[in-house]
Amino acid sequence: MCTYAPAPVVFVRGSGSELFDAQGRRYLDFVSGLAVTSLGHAHPEVAAALSAQAQTLWHVSNLYENALAPGVAATLDRLVGGGTPAGGQVFFCNSGAEANECALKLARKWAGPGRHVVVSTWGSFHGRTLATLTATGQPAKHVPFEPLPEGFVHVPYDDLEAMSRALDPATVGAVIVEPVQGEGGVVVPSSDYLAGLRRLCTERGVLLICDEVQTGLGRTGRWFAFQAQSLQPDVVTMAKALGNGMPVGACWASAEVAAAFGPGDHATTFGGQPLAMSAAKATLAVMEREDVCGRAVRAGARLRAGLGALPGVTGVRGEGLLLAAVLSGAAAPDVAAAALGHGLLVNAVRADALRLAPSLLVEDAIVDEALEILSTTLAEVGTR
Ligand SMILES: *Cc1c(COP(=O)(O)O)cnc(C)c1O
Repeated sequence: MCTYAPAPVVFVRGSGSELFDAQGRRYLDFVSGLAVTSLGHAHPEVAAALSAQAQTLWHVSNLYENALAPGVAATLDRLVGGGTPAGGQVFFCNSGAEANECALKLARKWAGPGRHVVVSTWGSFHGRTLATLTATGQPAKHVPFEPLPEGFVHVPYDDLEAMSRALDPATVGAVIVEPVQGEGGVVVPSSDYLAGLRRLCTERGVLLICDEVQTGLGRTGRWFAFQAQSLQPDVVTMAKALGNGMPVGACWASAEVAAAFGPGDHATTFGGQPLAMSAAKATLAVMEREDVCGRAVRAGARLRAGLGALPGVTGVRGEGLLLAAVLSGAAAPDVAAAALGHGLLVNAVRADALRLAPSLLVEDAIVDEALEILSTTLAEVGTR
C-alpha cells in the first residue's frame, strides 16, 4: 500500500556505516533505518548469533518457558537501573508501538477503573496503533482516523505547570513522555523536566512511562536518555535498536507495577521468540563490550561540532548521536534528497531540520566524510 513515498534507490548490501545499491554505489548511512542499526549493518557477531539460532530453534510460543528471554530481560533490567538491577520485569514484543501499547494497558490495569486517562505531550510520537496514535501529540495524524480511543490528554512538552494542571489524581493513571522527542524534531527538554515529572507523578500517584523506543540503548550517550536526570521511571519502553534490525520491542516495569498483569491480561504470539532474543542478546553484549554510550558521546561531539561549523546550519539540537541540524535558507527535504545523490543518507525530520543518527560504532573518518558531503550539498542547494 502507498503508505510511504520512498526515495528512488534500492540498497542490496550493507556493512557497518556503509550501504551499497544495486549498481555497487557506496552510501554513508546516517539514518540507520531510523535509529535501529546502532551497531551498523550486518554486524558479524549479531549475524553469527542469528544464523546459529536460525539453524537451531526459531519459535515455540509463550506457552512454554524460554531459554533466552530471561537473560535478555535481566540485562535490560540492569541497564534501566544504570548498572545495578532495577528489580523490574519485562514483556517482550515486536515493535515500539507494541511496547507502548503494553505500557498503556498495564497503566490501565494498575490504576483501576476510572483512572484510565493518560497524559502525553504535544509534538510526541508513540506509534501508529489506534491507542499509541492517540497518545501521539500530532493532531494532523489523528484527523483521518477519528473517532479515536477515549482517555488521552495532551499538554505542551517541557512545561511542568501545564502537566501539573492536567494531573487529576481522580482520573489520570499515567504520563507517557519521550525523554528527548525524536520524530518531533529531536527536542531536548530542560535539565529538570524529567525529574520534575517524576516528582509530580509520585505526588499524584500516577505512573511515569518513559518512551525510550528511539532514545534508548546508548543512542543519546546513556543507556537510557532519562538517565541524564536523577529519576527512576515506573515503566520504560524500548524497541528500535534492541535487535540491531531484528524486530524486537520490550516494555520494562517496576515489580510493583508489573504485578498488575496476571496470566491472560496481555499476550503476543511472536514476542520473545528465540530467534528475536538471540539477536537482542548478541546486540546487547556487543553494545556493553564496545561501550556504545562512551562512543556516542565522543562521536556525537565530533559530529555536533562539525555540523555547527557548516555554512547554512544555524543550530544543532540533540544528545549523543541523536542530532538535528537546523537549516537556514534551504528546505530540509531538498537537502536530504540532494545528499542522497552525493552518497549520504540523512532524513528531514522537520521542514527546517535534518536528523542524523549514525551507527554508534561510526568511525571518525566516516563522520568527517559525511560532513564534507553535507557541506557540498548545502552549498549546492542553498545557491540553487
Ligand atoms: C519509532 C517510535 C515508536 C514506534 O515504533 P514502531 O516500531 O514503529 O512501532 C514509538 N515511540 C517512539 C519514541 C519512536 O521513535
